Amino acid sequence: MIRCEELSFSYEEDASPAIDEFSVEIEKGSFVAIIGHNGSGKSTLARLINALYLPTKGDVYVGDMNTKDATKLLDIRKTAGMIFQNPDNQIIATVVEEDIAFGPENLGVPREEIGRRIDNVLKILDMEDYRFRPPHMLSGGQKQRIAIAGVLAMEPEIIIFDESTSMLDPSGRKEVMSTIHNLHSQGITVVLITHFMEEVLGAQRVLVLDKGRLALDMKPADLFMHVDLLKSYDLKVPEIIELAMELKKAGKKIEFPIYNEMDLVRQLCP
Ligand code: ADP
Ligand code: MG
Repeated sequence: MIRCEELSFSYEEDASPAIDEFSVEIEKGSFVAIIGHNGSGKSTLARLINALYLPTKGDVYVGDMNTKDATKLLDIRKTAGMIFQNPDNQIIATVVEEDIAFGPENLGVPREEIGRRIDNVLKILDMEDYRFRPPHMLSGGQKQRIAIAGVLAMEPEIIIFDESTSMLDPSGRKEVMSTIHNLHSQGITVVLITHFMEEVLGAQRVLVLDKGRLALDMKPADLFMHVDLLKSYDLKVPEIIELAMELKKAGKKIEFPIYNEMDLVRQLCP
């Protein structure tokens, strides 16, 4: 569980707040997407949850731990792992298994247990064949999955993805998104920051940030029915929804919600 209570954060004393009176509760095991135009505060929020930044005002709780409690810092980072944009910046070692071991080693996990966790996460990510490979030889999507493996080896409850697919090609993005869905189905709480509207459709709930404030909080299928609202926050509607709306306008019998191509195809060719 993540809870933000009237959370504000400013980078400088006289600057306008990057996060402004933001309150939200994210349930354990849920899959929440966060969207918002450039500079709306998404990355700042992610770093506040992970205790990389501390609130200027208000509080953030990860489980029952307040991020201001310095004695809980390691526990918070272990509970809420983070995956960033560029996979190259997250890879440390020259062999995949060493890279995955890095996090748990820092947490003081015993050697044997680390070995067991490496086996386990490589199996979950279906990357057992890559164990002894040099990470820099892998594709972007594979590297990002190794970064995910490294976080997973610390046995987090929550993983925050900050635009983690934005540097990948379409097949890499697909690979990583399917990994993220798989992790969610295994009970991990997923916070997915993204600017790809298609990725939002897979979430249970979407938060829209605007100038550091929580502008909207709803189900993705409901959100995408409000095209004007989205446009007012500088956001796009997923192509598949736009297409479905056009077809409906043209007289086809279409029922929403629609989440993907298959939903639409099934309605058109029952
Ligand atoms: P997003 O991830 O949604 O694009 P950010 O959280 O990166 O937004 O930024 C929110 C606001 O904070 C922006 O106005 C941005 O210019 C400002 N900001 C971000 N990082 C810094 C920083 N290191 N120093 C000063 N201002 C920053
Ligand atoms: Mg950002």
